[in-house]
Amino acid sequence: MGTADIHIHSLYSYDATTTVKAVLKQAADAGLDVIAITDHDEIRGSLEARALAPKYGLEAIPAVEVSTKDGHLLALFVEELPPPGLPLVETLLRIGQLGGIAVAPHPFNPLPASLSMEVVVHALTQPGAKEILRGIETYNMSTQAFDRLAQKLSIYLPLAKTASSDAHVYWAIGAGRTEFEGATAKDLKKAIENNTTVPIPYEGDFSAKEILGWVRRMALRRFGYASDSTSAATPVDTQKIDLERVKMMVQKRRRKE
Ligand SMILES: [Zn+2]
Ligand SMILES: [Zn+2]
Repeated sequence: MGTADIHIHSLYSYDATTTVKAVLKQAADAGLDVIAITDHDEIRGSLEARALAPKYGLEAIPAVEVSTKDGHLLALFVEELPPPGLPLVETLLRIGQLGGIAVAPHPFNPLPASLSMEVVVHALTQPGAKEILRGIETYNMSTQAFDRLAQKLSIYLPLAKTASSDAHVYWAIGAGRTEFEGATAKDLKKAIENNTTVPIPYEGDFSAKEILGWVRRMALRRFGYASDSTSAATPVDTQKIDLERVKMMVQKRRRKE
């Protein structure tokens, strides 16, 4: 069986603090075979990860967490960014054109960025869209307090079940993983399409759970702190890094909005 964490944020997300290299280093140490960096409406981190991943002994899928009009959506196996702000069905059609598939992250909960049951069920009746929406996150380490409903309702949906960390800090990577037959990204895609994945929730407890709080993450970013690792051999270290680089990423995002 292979193990994947297909919902991870890097420094390319406005609310995360991990460089791409540090994501890869931590993923390798956590024993993952396949990862997806899914930054908010930003694909560059995942493309960088794909190029660097073999050095770390793993595979990285090109991917992004798209902000659709109806809530967040993980687009996997896409080389280009699907435009944010479109309704779910239109976004799914776009992901299909790009050759990708989609997973509904942290669904059916009261958080503002989550897809509702109605929207998901509607998409599953739409030709062209239903073939692209193939998975549902039944465990998300970062929103686990709300996961029970997704777990219950997913029984009735024809979707592969996944577990992810939704890590915004490096040490959470792999805390939530999806098992699949095989070991490669191609095997994972097949398992999601065939609905044979097994979600493995994280059983432990984080003593510093509050670090996941949005305010803290933004503060870390604002003061130029990030978790970096320069190579597969060096440890992951949270340190002050090039503040200009962090600022540039945030500005680029603001320009887009
Ligand atoms: Zn999200
Ligand atoms: Zn996320």
